[in-house]
Parts: sequence; structure tokens; C-alpha cells
Amino acid sequence: MSGEFDLIRRFFARPAPEGFLGPGDDCALMPAEAGTELAVSADLLVEGRHFFSDVDPVSLGHKSLAVNLSDLAAMGARPLGCFLSLSLPRADEYWLQGFSRGFHALAERHACPLLGGDTVRSNRDTTIGVTVIGQLPAGSALRRDAALAGDDVWISGELGAADVALRLLQLRSAGDEALLAAARGALEWPQPQLALGQALRGLAHAAIDVSDGLLQDLGHILAASGCGAELRYDAMPVADCLLGLDAQLLRQAVLCGGDVYQLCFTASPQARPDIVRAAQQAGAKVSRIGRTVAQPGLTVLDADGGPIVLTGNAGFDHFA
Ligand code: ADP
Ligand code: MG
Repeated sequence: MSGEFDLIRRFFARPAPEGFLGPGDDCALMPAEAGTELAVSADLLVEGRHFFSDVDPVSLGHKSLAVNLSDLAAMGARPLGCFLSLSLPRADEYWLQGFSRGFHALAERHACPLLGGDTVRSNRDTTIGVTVIGQLPAGSALRRDAALAGDDVWISGELGAADVALRLLQLRSAGDEALLAAARGALEWPQPQLALGQALRGLAHAAIDVSDGLLQDLGHILAASGCGAELRYDAMPVADCLLGLDAQLLRQAVLCGGDVYQLCFTASPQARPDIVRAAQQAGAKVSRIGRTVAQPGLTVLDADGGPIVLTGNAGFDHFA
């Protein structure tokens, strides 16, 4: 490889859609539609903190974009395009091949073309910065501050598997190969719920994507909306592969495990049939896991109606 520009051309620059200007100029250009607003989100992934150094580069490319698309999904936005900033210790052909393949495959699936970025050499670790830009009708975004007391609380998909896979990989303990094999896809191949997010516009009140754990992320909705919530543990959609797990560990993974990238949202009980229909059309599973209440605070009730007390961390916090 003969340098930075060759690397960009080979692995990242792709023809932009009609009406767009992609990589190659000082800025990318994208058309702006009247009556819409843009939803923009940026995320950093740091080697050793967000991903293992030896992770499959194809899944890393996928996940780098997936976690950003998940933010667009949580606001109900449709992707317009994305930007990729890479800080790399070396130009590793195998890594770049795999990473770019995983990234472009997901970008194509969700019509989110890579329109530009930056590429620099780092001293040591790989850092990946992705910015996504989406579009939605002005005023229609699903915001965190829009939950009302008396709403249903819903979650898409299933909970717990990504957290269990992460713990198994961290422990590097032998003997749990079957469980790791079953849970690993949730950690390394998260699927952003874009169709569901867009289908929920006008139906759901507040929404968030669960990246740091259900209780912590729902807590952000409650804090922004000035209400509380009561959840039922037996209503939680637990990933099938976790059913043999110790009850205490399972609870921790389901309620507090991160890397889920499913949507937690609130909606009026009157909207139940519409929500079920919207989810069906979007090809998403949704579960009603509790309700919001006027009194601030978040409780999880066991099957017998008593509150569950959690002992471990409530969720992920970089500076805790
Ligand atoms: P500038 O000097 O204006 O910052 P660069 O020389 O850094 O431009 O980049 C040249 C072109 O390549 C720009 O259009 C930029 O958006 C694009 N580019 C750089 N890195 C990436 C990348 N990782 N993915 C996609 N496009 C990239
Ligand atoms: Mg540059």
C-alpha cells in the first residue's frame, strides 16, 4: 500500500448515491429536504475498552456502524449517510479488508453510505470514530424527555446475551464454550432497530437504545421526563440461551447488562394494538415490561410482587 490516500481509496471510498458527494473533496455534500430535520450522532470505540484487540475485524466494522445506527433508530430517524475517522497504529491489510467489509455491508443494508472521514496514524491503540446523519420529519423525533406517567414501558428484542458473552470473554474461562457460542452473536453482531424506530414515530412517547443496561438507560428517560417506573421481572424477554444460568447472574445480565442495542420506549396504553402492528411490520419482537408512574424512582418487581434488590453495578459508566 502506498500511503494514506491509497488506503482510503481501496478500503473506504465508494461511489456516493445520486445527488450526494462522497469521499474525495474537502466536505461531503448531501441533499436537504424541506420540512425535515437532521439527527446526528457520534461514537468512539477504543481498543481494549470497547473491543478486544483480537476481535474479528469484520464484526468490528459491523459493530462500529451498528452502535451509531442504533442511536438513529432510537430517535426514529432514517439514515442519510455516515463518516468514519480512524486512528491506526499501522496499515494492516488483513484488518482493513475485514473491517471495511463489515462496515460497508451494514451501510449498504441500511442505505447509509460512507461519505467521508479522516485517517491518521496512532502511536499504539486503534480508535474508531463514527458519525451518522439521519433525517426525519421536523418535530417527530422520539426524545428521552417525552414519557408521561401511566405509559407502558416496552423493550424490543431480547436481553442478557451480550453481557454474558462479554463476561465469558473477559474471564477467558474454559468450559463454557457452548454458552459463549450461543451468546456471542448478540455482543459482536448487534442489529440496529431502524425499521422499528421509524415505525414508532407518532406512536411512542419516549425512546432510547439500550447500550449501557436497561435500568440505567430507562433511568435516563425517567430523569429527562420527570417520572418513575415499575417493571415486572417475569415480563422480561430473556435470551433463550441463558435459561440455565444462575438466577442472580441472569438478573444482573438482563437488567443491567450493556451492549444490547434494542429500543426501550414508552407509549400510552391506548397505543398497544398499534405498537404490536408496527413491530410486526418492522419484523421486530416487542415486550411490554412495565409502566411509568408519577413518583420518581425505578423498581423491578419479582413474580410474587416484591421488589428485586440488585447487588452489582446498575450499568456501565466510563468514569465510575
Ligand atoms: P482533508 O485534508 O480535507 O481533511 P483528507 O486528506 O483527510 O482530507 O481526506 C481526503 C478525503 O478522504 C476526504 O474527502 C475525506 O472525507 C476522505 N476520507 C478520509 N478518511 C476516510 C475514511 N476513513 N473513510 C471515508 N472517507 C475518508
Ligand atoms: Mg484529514
